[in-house]
Amino acid sequence: MTHPNAPHLWPAATAVIDGVLHLGGTPVTALAETFGTPSYLLDVPGLRARAAHYRAAFENAFAPADVQVYYAGKAFLSTALARWVHAEGLRIDTASAGELATALAAGIDGSDIGLHGNNKSPGEIDQALAYGVGRIVIDSLPEIELVAQRAAAHGVRAPVMVRVTTGVHAGGHDFIATAHEDQKFGLSLAGGAAMTALERILALPELELLGLHSHIGSQILDADGFAAAATALLGLRADLAERTGHLVGELDLGGGYGIAYTPHESAVDVVAVARALAQACRAECERLGTAMPAFSFEPGRAIVGPSMMTVYRVGTVKPVQLPDGASRLYVSVDGGMSDNIRPALYGANYHAELASRTSAAPLVTARVVGKHCESGDIVVRDVALPGDIRAGDLVAVPATGAYGRSMASQYNLIPRPGVVAVGDGPAREIVRRETLQDLLALDLG
Ligand SMILES: *Cc1c(COP(=O)(O)O)cnc(C)c1O
Repeated sequence: MTHPNAPHLWPAATAVIDGVLHLGGTPVTALAETFGTPSYLLDVPGLRARAAHYRAAFENAFAPADVQVYYAGKAFLSTALARWVHAEGLRIDTASAGELATALAAGIDGSDIGLHGNNKSPGEIDQALAYGVGRIVIDSLPEIELVAQRAAAHGVRAPVMVRVTTGVHAGGHDFIATAHEDQKFGLSLAGGAAMTALERILALPELELLGLHSHIGSQILDADGFAAAATALLGLRADLAERTGHLVGELDLGGGYGIAYTPHESAVDVVAVARALAQACRAECERLGTAMPAFSFEPGRAIVGPSMMTVYRVGTVKPVQLPDGASRLYVSVDGGMSDNIRPALYGANYHAELASRTSAAPLVTARVVGKHCESGDIVVRDVALPGDIRAGDLVAVPATGAYGRSMASQYNLIPRPGVVAVGDGPAREIVRRETLQDLLALDLG
């Protein structure tokens, strides 16, 4: 038994035995036989350990300040997963009626759920208020009146935070960096909209102002951007206190903690980042002469991303001559951009390994591609695979847990894969694979 190549990319419970990748002691060949391919395989103990590790990292770094960690459900949400992360002490962040309904169906109390969104419908706000969600994160000025009006209709006081655009730009790609000014999220600090929103909220008895929120992007690997955003929020908090006498009690510093996707990348060191961030917050509070607030965080990718891999079956294998005379082996698998849109959407890179057997064949330059009708349908752009890889082999791609199944589509009318939980009793599907009947059930003729 050995570790797979680049062990830091794989779920903790991954091992290679006689050339076959195993998860939680079960060969992926057997899992593929039972559950079909492609499938997302979830290492449940690994997921729970990551959730616990993130919670402890923030709690330890910020003690004695109160800390809550919300799992950002948009990375991947199912009722079983919500229960596992909740059992590790995380709350659940949602951004739609569907995510909220899933968290509630898991039995999570409304008070342990947050609701985000830049365009929440009145129905979503009603649903949140009816179930007593712990926080609604206000994302625009018109939403203030809307939430106040719906709260009055429900006869409740709505707990709200204000999402602030701090001008800090961080993260892996323009489309996932969310706090620079020219984008759709939040209320501008520099432009004054954030202060306007806070003063309006304080004037409305239907709203209870819990705090300030900032989410600066995704796939961030160091503390600098988080610290800059936190410093900006603490300054806004002090300004608001000076103008109104109200010192808000909580800062939510969002998610965005980066993970490793390819062998040469490494994940964020959350313990070190949390320490540096807490230190920056303490120093700024001291400078401003304000007490430390409570803090909350919203990691999504970092909790579920590395806890899952996707296993595919190889079909067509085709060598292609490149202009420079070299050759690339195109390895087609039975999924693709419908189960992982990230390479096509942001040029995201992944890693892959032959998972079902040993091979003594020399490694060749390969590209793993899907079965969809687009040349951008790439699973892994550049990877070295054994030159004898062939139809019927299994290929496993690590770190597919975040924004894989949750962004999956039925493009080409290919049913979406299931999610198989491993390591929590016998392996079982927690999200069932779609069937052709599922697709046809939506077609009303
Ligand atoms: C997407 C998102 C998160 C989670 O981001 P990750 O990169 O998955 O950690 C947290 N908070 C908000 C508001 C988000 O939009």
